[in-house]
Amino acid sequence: MSRKIAFIGLGIMGKPMAINLVKAGHHVTGFNLEQSAIDALVAEGGHGATSIADAVKDAEVVITMVPADPHVEQVILGEGGVLENVAAGTLVIDMSSITPQTSIKVDAAAKAKGVRTLDAPVSGGEAGAVEAVLSIMVGGGADDFAEAKPLFDVLGTTVIHVGPAGAGQTVKAANQLIVAINIEAVAEAVVFLENAGVDLPAALDVLAGGLAGSTVLNRKKANMIDRQFAPGFRIDLHHKDMGIVTTAARAVEAPLPLGSVVAQLVASARANGDGSLDHSALLRGVERLAGR
Ligand code: NAD
Repeated sequence: MSRKIAFIGLGIMGKPMAINLVKAGHHVTGFNLEQSAIDALVAEGGHGATSIADAVKDAEVVITMVPADPHVEQVILGEGGVLENVAAGTLVIDMSSITPQTSIKVDAAAKAKGVRTLDAPVSGGEAGAVEAVLSIMVGGGADDFAEAKPLFDVLGTTVIHVGPAGAGQTVKAANQLIVAINIEAVAEAVVFLENAGVDLPAALDVLAGGLAGSTVLNRKKANMIDRQFAPGFRIDLHHKDMGIVTTAARAVEAPLPLGSVVAQLVASARANGDGSLDHSALLRGVERLAGR
């Protein structure tokens, strides 16, 4: 069934996701701060809007994919935002990675207007978005999840309802903890292997086939071998996510000894001017520690 979808936030992730929804036969109207991304969506058969109000006016489903909590608050709750402009009964799906508390706040504000929400953050990176193989972790009502599932199935291959409003974000925070620690582990191994004079591509290939293998190793080894750090996933955004998981874990008294160290290393990467690089550039921090 073709749905009328408004898609707000056509960045590294949002643009290919919106295009995949167009290709699946949905009527997608996009809005983004940079016009070039709207033009790219229109070139693929989507529709462009001039404001959030314009994008959502006839939408049955609104999807938001913006950087962080303040953007979600502005886009959904703010003046001229989604809640001011959608009809009661609309389903608003925020796929950004934000704090569980903000997802819960958005859900409460929406419910007061008869609007339904899901928090549905994703994992899989730009490649996962382009290839439509994202992992999507969804918080919210079971009926709303069932309604949205066909849309999620267009965007990803692992789609799981993990609990009530905010639960998707809690799972995403755990995802970001695992990914950051994993990238740091690979980066430390890379510097160690290079210092030891071992052929790096060969070493990483054999490591990828054993217990040290991981999606991070498979997806990020080329970035590290070639020192190609165009994002991908920006260190600035991973810094935001380490803040989310640190706060969320503290609230439930879950210890994060490794996570705390890696959060500091991510912060240090930003302080060294690497914030706009891909998170595989954590390697540059290990190189600095190695005196390179
Ligand atoms: P991005 O910075 O490339 O894109 C964000 C987009 O939001 C921009 O194009 C911007 O114009 C738009 N935007 C911001 N405020 C807006 C507003 N008020 N109205 C309309 N558009 C607005 O970021 P991204 O990498 O696509 O990430 C988006 C979200 O997805 C983040 O929460 C991020 O943590 C998460 N995420 C990213 C990746 C990744 O690999 N890049 C992977 C998984 C999850």
